Amino acid sequence: MYKVKENGKNHFKLYQASMDMVPQLALENSLRKALDRSEFVLYYQPQLSLETGQIIGVEALIRWISPSRGFVPPSEFISIAEETGLILPLGDWVLREACKQSVTWENQGIPRLRVAVNISSIQFQQTNFVKIVANIIAQTGANPDNIELEITESIAMGSMENTIFKLSQLKEMGFHIAMDDFGTGYSSLQYMNKFPIDRLKIDRSFISLLNTNEKNDAIVKLIVMMAKGLNFKVIAEGVETIQQRTFLEQIDCDEIQGYLISKPLKLEDCNEFLNAATVSCTK
Ligand code: C2E
Ligand code: MG
Ligand code: MG
Ligand code: MG
Repeated sequence: MYKVKENGKNHFKLYQASMDMVPQLALENSLRKALDRSEFVLYYQPQLSLETGQIIGVEALIRWISPSRGFVPPSEFISIAEETGLILPLGDWVLREACKQSVTWENQGIPRLRVAVNISSIQFQQTNFVKIVANIIAQTGANPDNIELEITESIAMGSMENTIFKLSQLKEMGFHIAMDDFGTGYSSLQYMNKFPIDRLKIDRSFISLLNTNEKNDAIVKLIVMMAKGLNFKVIAEGVETIQQRTFLEQIDCDEIQGYLISKPLKLEDCNEFLNAATVSCTK
């Protein structure tokens, strides 16, 4: 594989990209071993209903704690996992782990907590994705009504009919579906009335600009209004300040998630958080 490299003074030179890829290959190799070595854990970030002030769910977020590399954030390994196909076993592990945890919470008397799980488009595109998910549900005994699958706009790049069919099957099984990072993808408003979605997650990039940019504020308002019109719940990601929360309350956004409520927490800390909070998911 060759890449063009700028060689100063507008001279360009072809060089072998493999030199460049050594760190990437090393990362790929340790990623490959990490699943067998149980180096992944799930953290959970609480989600708050602005209407009731109660915790309605948590989003499961993967963490890689590598003995040699330390704490590796998902931004550094999810795309490599996607390129190499490792996202398939990794994604299975995440869903299974989140389902097991959902059952544990149910048994501990926190039955109405929704657990949101990120699903990569690569996972979703598998022809047998619905079957894989059904197997995980059967094996863990989780209630799909307590699980929300977070997809992104990029799943719309596959066949429309097929995407709608798979989503409908998942809905029939009882899962909730959320559109993550809304507004950042190749969003086509076409799919908004065709996909059976329960919730829109407004991307953090819009929330971080709230109260600083009128046009951005108008877009956020519009997304909330659109969600209402289409009968979706709407949740804002990355809420960090009281001012952002107040803005979102004023425009009638349903729910928020972000450091203002809590950072993603390791299981122990999440349990402590849940014990201190009122949890109630009206679904
Ligand atoms: P995402 O699904 O949009 O998750 C939200 C990200 O925003 C998380 O980053 C979370 O820690 C971060 N976040 C939440 N609140 C705040 C806030 O108030 N301020 C700031 N600055 N950040 C906030 P994280 O955990 O690093 O994950 C990044 C992305 O990696 C996720 O974005 C998701 O796309 C992907 N990801 C994480 N876990 C998984 C997984 O299990 N499977 C897949 N396929 N992707 C995952
Ligand atoms: Mg997400
Ligand atoms: Mg997101
Ligand atoms: Mg995001």
